[in-house]
Amino acid sequence: MRLILMGPPGAGKGTQGELLEKKLGISTISTGLMLRTAIKEQTEVGKLAEQYINDGKLVPDDVIVAIVKERLSQPDCEKGFILDGFPRTTAQAEALDAAGVTIDKVLLLEVDDSKIVERLSSRRECSKCGTPYNIISKKPEKEGICDNCGGELICRKDDVPETIQNRLNVYHEQTEPIKEFYQAKGILAVAQGEEELADTTANVAKALGLGV
Ligand code: AMP
Repeated sequence: MRLILMGPPGAGKGTQGELLEKKLGISTISTGLMLRTAIKEQTEVGKLAEQYINDGKLVPDDVIVAIVKERLSQPDCEKGFILDGFPRTTAQAEALDAAGVTIDKVLLLEVDDSKIVERLSSRRECSKCGTPYNIISKKPEKEGICDNCGGELICRKDDVPETIQNRLNVYHEQTEPIKEFYQAKGILAVAQGEEELADTTANVAKALGLGV
């Protein structure tokens, strides 16, 4: 399965990606997580991306396309992959096509903007492995500590109210139009992501035709 997860920030792409990764036995590629790791390590890409991310803007297409192409060429992607957070512009979707990468399904997680603002303020992320949490709806077993690796849970720098609004605007203006691109290919599936985690997980399984 070569899958794209689409949806506004905080729709649950990271969480559903994590669940699908376990269920399908394929890797999740999160461009946001790759960029945050690059920033932590202060690589050239990290230095370039930092201001864009902190402002809630998109990193330039050529930079992100190069990162994704390199990652998709790694052996674990031969059996399939889940793209979380890519493509985010029509140019990125076209670049994926032009590189000969065929996609089986694009799953759009739909969540209303008002719910996003509320959700992102309670979101946390592991500072080591990037696993997503939410202090209301997806708590770790031990407060502040990642269940997977024992890393410290932190608030993302871009999960602050001003940046959240920018990210939502960017989503509606630049990312949402990709829906039509994939609809025209007949591979778009839509799942509601508004409710509790278990409901969203069931909606995703149904939209993808997987057993719950
Ligand atoms: P995310 O973790 O997916 O919410 O991504 C966090 C931030 O990383 C975004 O707000 C962008 O600044 C940047 N980013 C992630 N993926 C992309 C992409 N495909 N194109 C451009 N910027 C991206």
